[in-house]
Amino acid sequence: MIPLKQLRKLAEEHGTPLFVVDHDEVRRNYFEFKRHLPRVQAYYAVKANPDPAIVKTLYDAGASFDVASFPEFLIVHENIKRLPARVRQDYIWDKIIYANPIKAVDTLAQLDPYKPLVTYDNHEEINKMACCAPHAGLVLRIQVPNTGSMVELSSKFGAAPGDAVDLIEAARAAGFVVEGLSFHVGSQATNFDNYIQALGIAADIFHEARLRGHDKMNLLDIGGGFPAPYDASVKPFGVLARLLRKEIDRLFPKDIEIIAEPGRFMVATAATLVVKVIGKATRDGKPCYYVDDGLYGTFSGILFDHCQYHLDAFKKGRKEICSVFGPTCDALDTISRAEYLPNLALGDLLYSKNIGAYSNASATDFNGFPRAKVVHVNR
Ligand SMILES: *Cc1c(COP(=O)(O)O)cnc(C)c1O
Repeated sequence: MIPLKQLRKLAEEHGTPLFVVDHDEVRRNYFEFKRHLPRVQAYYAVKANPDPAIVKTLYDAGASFDVASFPEFLIVHENIKRLPARVRQDYIWDKIIYANPIKAVDTLAQLDPYKPLVTYDNHEEINKMACCAPHAGLVLRIQVPNTGSMVELSSKFGAAPGDAVDLIEAARAAGFVVEGLSFHVGSQATNFDNYIQALGIAADIFHEARLRGHDKMNLLDIGGGFPAPYDASVKPFGVLARLLRKEIDRLFPKDIEIIAEPGRFMVATAATLVVKVIGKATRDGKPCYYVDDGLYGTFSGILFDHCQYHLDAFKKGRKEICSVFGPTCDALDTISRAEYLPNLALGDLLYSKNIGAYSNASATDFNGFPRAKVVHVNR
């Protein structure tokens, strides 16, 4: 984390709420991923934090990208545009996968000129693509267990494994090449067994597809879910990576290309939020602090991402239990009813670490409170 002295200085200079992005940490996370999983190309899931400066840092480090909307596609494409024209087209699958299985026809039409690699998981989508994105390459998203993940995705996306080969055949009949399979085990997947089961399901489908004559599939996308170290209960990434390396090498021949779509893992630890106490009251005998960012802002992940953030004070002192609220007029705007903080005064600063993923990405302007200013360090 960025040293407290530097955080405080930045907050004095820029004001609060302040969202401080540490680009050295973004690069460290990327290289840690690569070091532990050398066979896997990382496609950063832009939705975790779509800041163009973060995308550029990852692009320059060698990452590829998972996008889920045309605006996200364009954020990444800004970086590809800098390449000489003759290498660009060969490059797009190496650099971008459009990994939202459901795409509006207008979006498909916007994507088609780029000959994109896209995921799908149902027959309607094949019909839409046949009409509006005939130049796409396809990846079939399959449903896998999401047991115990902080954010569950399997109820919304993924073909049932039993339908997979039929969907591959249907896409081929419509004139597409199905490059391979993808899955997502759910976000902040601390139950590593989800990955083991998913790899087994994918390997069975590859096998069945080969038996039925589809030997063109050469891509496996193991999705996101790689957990960020929010607390000591999360096992180190090295433990998961060792399991993945072993299972991937056991189940998939060397000529199968393996990619992943880490979002949270790349950015969660790379940002710290600094907020200021703007109000103070005692309710039912308990200190209540009101700060200048909340659930409608950078702490939106408490609601959307099911992620509980904690606050720490810059100030020392005996800690006591307290509540912390955001600045809006809504009671939902509650950051925590059980924080341990020293006795704070108006104007005191607090910080919340590991808040880089699914945080300011889903912030709103509700009630007229501006979003936290973003500053980039070590860019
Ligand atoms: C959100 C998402 C990701 C990123 O997931 P993390 O848990 O943040 O790693 C990857 N792939 C797809 C398809 C997603 O929807």
